[in-house]
Amino acid sequence: MNWWRNLNPVKNKTIIRGEIFNGIKGKIRLAEPLKNHTTFKIGGPAKFFIEPKDANDLKLLLSLVKRYNLPIFVIGRGSNLLISDKGINGVVLRLNAPYFKKLSYRNNYLNVGSGVSLSKVVLFAGEYGLSGAEFLAGIPGTVGGALAMNAGILEKVHSSEFIVHSMGDLVETVTVMDYNGKIKTLHKKDIEFGYRKSSLSKYIILGTAIRLAKENKKRIKERIKKYINYRKSTQDLSKPSAGCIFRNPKGHSAGRLIDLCGLKGKRIQDAGVSLKHANFILNLENAASRDVLQLMDLIKQEVRKKFNIDLKPEIKTWQ
Ligand SMILES: Cc1cc2nc3c(=O)[nH]c(=O)nc-3n(C[C@H](O)[C@H](O)[C@H](O)COP(=O)(O)OP(=O)(O)OC[C@H]3O[C@@H](n4cnc5c(N)ncnc54)[C@H](O)[C@@H]3O)c2cc1C
Repeated sequence: MNWWRNLNPVKNKTIIRGEIFNGIKGKIRLAEPLKNHTTFKIGGPAKFFIEPKDANDLKLLLSLVKRYNLPIFVIGRGSNLLISDKGINGVVLRLNAPYFKKLSYRNNYLNVGSGVSLSKVVLFAGEYGLSGAEFLAGIPGTVGGALAMNAGILEKVHSSEFIVHSMGDLVETVTVMDYNGKIKTLHKKDIEFGYRKSSLSKYIILGTAIRLAKENKKRIKERIKKYINYRKSTQDLSKPSAGCIFRNPKGHSAGRLIDLCGLKGKRIQDAGVSLKHANFILNLENAASRDVLQLMDLIKQEVRKKFNIDLKPEIKTWQ
């Protein structure tokens, strides 16, 4: 067994003070409240919250994390996360330095760093008259999070006709780092994209090249507006949330099932089911992670009782 496996991250003082990370050039914060980094505004402290400066810094960080046997979690905008009130006894990594937030357009490809927000991608593409990314308008995540989750929407085109748009459709290549610090460029054919999941989540996603089509800027603007209005009319943006809590079971809308159980407005402490969209749980004031989890359990029980359907979470929980 390696000597470092015997180190206890809780007892070793050098680790507690973060001195093992002295060689890291990026930002390091100790006991950083994660509620400040999630759209739910929920989450206890991260023992170490680290934003590496560049790929070399990230590689060094990964080697230290491995040497001291610390758990590591990657966070984007935290818009699909429910994090424990106890926080994370390890490293939370965010690719927020300028190195990971580059955005450029060359030879028909948009090259985007994983730390770039989706709204910036949409605006940038619009300015260059590039179409295809408009459906991402209003999704409050980063490119890294959207690739890991294969974020997207189900667009209603007629009364019973829908089109699926998802992040994976846009991708030509994705650059990742594995947890041994090795950088790879993956082609679309090497990546599995599914309903709100992708095979990329086993890596640290560094960036992507996406291909968009030339289009009239005015029409792009109109489409962006349409998607934003659609979100405003269907989603509940009045309080902090993590978007849809449950995945839609095959052939069903999770929101509709929850609604039919009469659970709109149901509340546990400060966690409440939205009155507008039953698949949204809102942080009404000062909700704790356990309140949301209890409400999720209750919803699951009721939906199972009434429809014999098992709802599965869409959000990622770090508990
Ligand atoms: C109001 C609201 C509306 C929403 N609407 C939609 C919608 O219409 N469609 C939709 O699909 N989603 C929606 N979401 C959910 C969420 O915005 C998306 O899933 C988004 O893509 C998550 O991105 P993020 O950067 O916030 O990722 P996070 O929430 O920070 O992380 C999500 C997962 O991705 C992983 N991850 C993040 N960055 C990286 C990286 N660089 N490398 C490897 N793994 C990484 C994390 O470890 C985690 O497992 C909504 C959320 C909210 C709050």
